[in-house]
Amino acid sequence: MSKKTPGKVIVIVAPSGAGKTTIAQRLLRDYPQIKFSVSATTRPPRKGEEHGEDYYFLSDEEFDQKVANEEFLEWEHYSGNKYGTLRSEVDKLVESGYFPLLDIEVKGALNVQELYNSGAVSIFIEPPSMKELKNRLSNRGSETNETLSKRLNRAEMEMQYADHFDYIVVNDNLETAYEEVKEIIESFITD
Ligand code: ADP
Ligand code: 5GP
Repeated sequence: MSKKTPGKVIVIVAPSGAGKTTIAQRLLRDYPQIKFSVSATTRPPRKGEEHGEDYYFLSDEEFDQKVANEEFLEWEHYSGNKYGTLRSEVDKLVESGYFPLLDIEVKGALNVQELYNSGAVSIFIEPPSMKELKNRLSNRGSETNETLSKRLNRAEMEMQYADHFDYIVVNDNLETAYEEVKEIIESFITD
């Protein structure tokens, strides 16, 4: 983490199932100057996910090699897998004049905040309740009982960190939450 990649980055952070991917996808649709920073992961692809588009899907060995080569801006263990933000990905976007959008978990987001200070805006997407979080994760149909329970345990911990970020947006009604996020983003990218 010694090299500081320049540029301004947008960090969307939330417990799994709170709706950050939904909100991030809307931002990407509405703001051509924002581009998704594709992370690397050792998790297997979900149905419909594409290598290089949703994630770079790597083997454990490939991931560890990139850690050893210091290719990550940050990386973390999450729910039995590893996830990391590639410096090359953020550099490529910044050099092309885009604002990279990072959809990452709490610990990685704290690290990015520390690296960037005012060069990053971080938005914590909060679910209206743990019960609703569980409903959303179950309804998404992406989890087994085991991974669902791991993600919910982790969510309990992640919720404690909400006020470490620049903004908290409660995603109860999606339209209202998205309007709040847009307001934050517009002031950041025009600053
Ligand atoms: P995350 O990326 O934080 O894990 P997702 O964006 O995948 O979360 O959302 C989890 C599930 O909840 C998805 O099925 C999504 O369609 C749904 N969802 C997102 N926002 C809302 C909302 N405000 N109300 C109801 N369901 C929502
Ligand atoms: P999922 O398996 O649901 O795609 O992602 C699990 C969690 O890992 C989510 O909270 C997601 O935001 C986070 N994540 C995705 N990419 C990265 C990354 O590069 N670094 C970190 N720290 N977390 C990530």
